[in-house]
Amino acid sequence: MREIIVNLHMHTRYSDGTGLHADLAQAALDAGVEVILVTDHNVLARCFEGYTRRERKTVLLLVGEEVHDQARQPQKNHLLVFNAPREMATFAHDPQTLIDAVRREGGLAFLAHPTDQACPSIKETAINWVLDDAQNFTGIELWNGLSEFKTVSPTRLHAYFHAFFPQWIATGPDPLLLARWDALLAAGRKVAAIGGSDAHALHVSAGPLRREIFPYAWHFRTINTHLLVPDEAFCGDLEMDRAAIYEALGRGRGFVGYDLPAPTRGFRFSAHGRDMQAQMGDEISVEGGVTLQALLPGPALGRLLKDGRVIRQWRTREAMSQVISEPGAYRVEAYIHYLGKQRGWIFSNPIYLR
Ligand SMILES: [Zn+2]
Ligand SMILES: [Zn+2]
Repeated sequence: MREIIVNLHMHTRYSDGTGLHADLAQAALDAGVEVILVTDHNVLARCFEGYTRRERKTVLLLVGEEVHDQARQPQKNHLLVFNAPREMATFAHDPQTLIDAVRREGGLAFLAHPTDQACPSIKETAINWVLDDAQNFTGIELWNGLSEFKTVSPTRLHAYFHAFFPQWIATGPDPLLLARWDALLAAGRKVAAIGGSDAHALHVSAGPLRREIFPYAWHFRTINTHLLVPDEAFCGDLEMDRAAIYEALGRGRGFVGYDLPAPTRGFRFSAHGRDMQAQMGDEISVEGGVTLQALLPGPALGRLLKDGRVIRQWRTREAMSQVISEPGAYRVEAYIHYLGKQRGWIFSNPIYLR
């Protein structure tokens, strides 16, 4: 399998971002990501899909959209839609109808920033999900860069500090969201996790000071979704590459990596059974026992979880293997020391032992 670094959830001038599609592609080349998924609000501009090359680097830009009901106040229930064959914003009036329509058309539906909180210091309302029993969605945006900024900016002073020193923001996905995800997994649901940046490259001014906060290239160096695709599937052909990316994204074949403290490329989590092997996102029979193996790309605090409960923890070593005989959803987390504290580094998708 080949690992592809994807940055997803970003806005251009087609909605409330400040860059053009071409600017985002250049920023992705600067940051070294291989695929970006643009998701403007309620508009699908697929004409911008394609490759941008510079020297020996290539980035593939694909276009999805972030759909929500613009008539609703406040504007909650944002849905990230990928691989839909047409504009889906016409279904925005009802989130469950929207999810069902996206899935019926063969698209992927991810709940964006499901537990987003209000941030009064910058006059931002909470844009969380308020449909507690949503069904049929592909997965959730487990870690959102901009939502996390709101949680660490209780005063304007905090907000200014983080605008100038954004490396202090990220510590990990919202614990409430992790708990909700684990509850769904423990109930037998398959829910894929992605990490999003929600990049806008906003221009702000305070008196004489003007600044672009959180530039695109900054976001592309932080919270990424790393996908595993078959070696031959990602080959430079737009149709094939698009299919390979969305196949892996929909299956949860990969992990969320915070690449700023140290690159997360190389992380692996796999299951080895009697007659088959499984990757993140796969199902495998537990009959006869299964060996789970995790490989961290560097020393870190690792945790193996079953249905949300930590069953194994390890430090300093990079490889872990554990024999399992019970069914459940198993996933791996890793934490790394950076700027004075333990911060979330890697969050794998589950392997489902049935
Ligand atoms: Zn949103
Ligand atoms: Zn957004």
